[in-house]
Amino acid sequence: MHDGRLRPPPLEIDGYLAAVDRCRAAYPQLRVLTGVELGQPHLVGDVAGTVDLRTLDRVVGSLHTLPVGEERAEPRGLYEDHDPADVVHAYLEEMVVMAGSGTRFDVVAHLDYAVRSWPTARAGAFDVTRFEDGFRQAMRAIARSGRALEMSAALLQPWMPRWWAEEGGRAVSFASDAHVPDALGVRSGEAVAMVEAAGFRPGARPEDLWRR
Ligand SMILES: [Zn+2]
Repeated sequence: MHDGRLRPPPLEIDGYLAAVDRCRAAYPQLRVLTGVELGQPHLVGDVAGTVDLRTLDRVVGSLHTLPVGEERAEPRGLYEDHDPADVVHAYLEEMVVMAGSGTRFDVVAHLDYAVRSWPTARAGAFDVTRFEDGFRQAMRAIARSGRALEMSAALLQPWMPRWWAEEGGRAVSFASDAHVPDALGVRSGEAVAMVEAAGFRPGARPEDLWRR
């Protein structure tokens, strides 16, 4: 679902739910929840006709691509022939639009996605203070929408939960963005400390959003 212009391939929701059921049966000591990360949810308005999002425990929305003419491209590619600062500004501006979408998603994932591929060799170390206004604007839009902001533990910096709280954010989720099992839970202790320092507290169940 990384190209918002294309109709996403239908998610095989029945097969997915059956696989989750098999995991639950195989590991009864674990509590396995269901969820999906929906890329560019503001551009896939007809996804509701493909998947009944209500059947999932959590829907995470994320922005992976930005428009380039008629196409869309990942920040990583855009950095090659655009001013890197323009790419980050464009990313944060489109996040404001995404936050205004009526598509169901409960959490906004990796707000720092464009930072991850920042071209340090060419542009120098990433300095978040240059983009503070943009990040805060995006956070205000997300907070207004009532959604939570994901705290991606492996890369989390204290400014993320602190600015989020200052801009009216009420809830956070934790994530590893682990694409391999060994990366699950990496740096989660440090991430928890940063989130607690910003005033967020856990809910009754482990999977609950943390709130302030
Ligand atoms: Zn993602």
